[in-house]
Amino acid sequence: MTSHDPETSPRRAARAEAERLATAALTLPAVFDERAPAEQAPTRGRRRGRIGAFDAAAPGPRGIRRFSPVLLRRRLVVVVAAVIVVAGCAVAIGAAASGGVPGPASDAVDHPSGPPPVADDGIPVPQLAAVAATATPCDDPAFTAALASGDDAATIAAAGGGQAFRAAVASGIAPCVSLSDPNREWLVVNKQRPYDPVDYQPGDLVMPANVRALEDSAVRAPAAAALTSLVKAASDAGVGEIGYLSAYRSYTTQKSTYAGRVAVGGVAEADRESARPGFSEHQSGMAVDIVPCNGSCRTLDDVAGSPQGAWVREHAWEYGFITRYAEGRESVSGYEPEAWHLRYIGPELARAYHEGGFTTLEEFFGLPAAPTY
Ligand SMILES: [Zn+2]
Repeated sequence: MTSHDPETSPRRAARAEAERLATAALTLPAVFDERAPAEQAPTRGRRRGRIGAFDAAAPGPRGIRRFSPVLLRRRLVVVVAAVIVVAGCAVAIGAAASGGVPGPASDAVDHPSGPPPVADDGIPVPQLAAVAATATPCDDPAFTAALASGDDAATIAAAGGGQAFRAAVASGIAPCVSLSDPNREWLVVNKQRPYDPVDYQPGDLVMPANVRALEDSAVRAPAAAALTSLVKAASDAGVGEIGYLSAYRSYTTQKSTYAGRVAVGGVAEADRESARPGFSEHQSGMAVDIVPCNGSCRTLDDVAGSPQGAWVREHAWEYGFITRYAEGRESVSGYEPEAWHLRYIGPELARAYHEGGFTTLEEFFGLPAAPTY
């Protein structure tokens, strides 16, 4: 029965030993400081030995006289005391000149418009450096539980919101978050990042309600609901109807789409406008190519100059979408600007993207540019 006694179980003994070692490591400096005077004597002896060696140095050219160890120590004490008094006075004068008493470091942080941390006389006011957060959300059980549940919004909330989630992922401290997981809103697919598996198919494709679809092309459920809201908001704002041509495209569909582009303009031309199979955002079910409709619908090329296109540039982020291939970012995204191609990344990340002024998903998540395959 003793083997079941928690006080004597091997696991408890091992943990106790680990805690003892950790405690010993933490208290080593204190042990050093609190040694009995007799134990400190050798240190003092060594110090005296060094001073003695200095004392024994030959007189310099100007005939510096030799000091006895005791005399030298007394002079050192006087000099150190004088330095402390002068420094103290200078700090006090500096504080009086700035109209207050030097406060704790947090004052400087809380009041950035206050006095500079260095006084006029150049003597720095003691400061505590702001400690950067290094904790990874991957060590937070609430975060890992939300991540494992597949709930993207809950995962981002557990990280502290879109900005915090992005910062953690981009800085590399959140290796438990995979930007290659095609089921997550933070998926990044580009010419350097194919799907895994290459013929991935989403499991929750639906046709968005109350949105004109010019092709029989579905969208993943969260993106479909967001698209319905976006289209209604644009209509309510008076900019006209937004319909869409193409959303989800399977690996097989993309294969024929890309082949068709290659047949028309060659590989180089096709790669600038269309993705190779296994590399298209449309395969995720979270990308949609919109068109402006006024009675009848117009083409993809008409989006940029339309009121609908202007409204989408301003407001799409409010519904969780970003313009994935922005003007002038071909060297990073790998594609010419596509005003019509919206990518759903969820409202939390889209807000962080918008507020951070990002123009590529690669830069948003700290990934390398992907101009070519
Ligand atoms: Zn597209």
